[in-house]
Amino acid sequence: MELLFASGNAHKAEELALLFEGSSFRIVSAPESVSVAETADNLYGNAEIKAQAYFQKYKRPTVADDSGLFVEALPDELGVMTARFGGEHLSALQRCELLLKRLENETHRNAYFMCVLCFVLSPHETFFFEGRLNGFIGEQVIGEQGFGYDPIFYPNDLKDGPLGARSLAQDVEYKMAHSHRARAAVRARSFLTSYIARP
Ligand code: IMP
Repeated sequence: MELLFASGNAHKAEELALLFEGSSFRIVSAPESVSVAETADNLYGNAEIKAQAYFQKYKRPTVADDSGLFVEALPDELGVMTARFGGEHLSALQRCELLLKRLENETHRNAYFMCVLCFVLSPHETFFFEGRLNGFIGEQVIGEQGFGYDPIFYPNDLKDGPLGARSLAQDVEYKMAHSHRARAAVRARSFLTSYIARP
């Protein structure tokens, strides 16, 4: 089954396509991106708004990803508004630098990434899957891989490894196996594979 990816974010599209490789589902880009106002106050609502907008336009099974970084010391600033942190026109690097600045002198740096995938297969079949990755915000921007806030996010699992703490942008293999998106995708693959095979 082909699933239209309801986003213009090429990084997310690439990750999701890899995460569904070898399954019964192929993630494909939409012919054109659809402009959508993300007006919900949580990731579930915004994922559904995006998936429904693409489903309405293209009348094909659709998947949307809404994700965010939740920083415990700044509870009202990121989360569902992560993409807009610091204003509309900052680059990903500028947002990372701004977050480091906001956490200057802050010792409580716990954070987690969360991803919600919303699948709309037909007007009566909408499914949600969630994944999280716990970690903390580091002290500097490190690593060339991944995207967004990856260079300042340090998964807890990578803290005590032989190489010491590493950011998500330094270990793409770890990211593809354990990220918030990977965890949501594993759940989605497992459920949807059985779902479409039911008699
Ligand atoms: P949205 O889901 O398009 O609303 O955007 C989510 C925001 O979180 C964007 O600023 C992304 O750059 C960021 N984000 C989402 N997923 C990841 C990720 O896997 N790594 C780093 N940043 C991410």
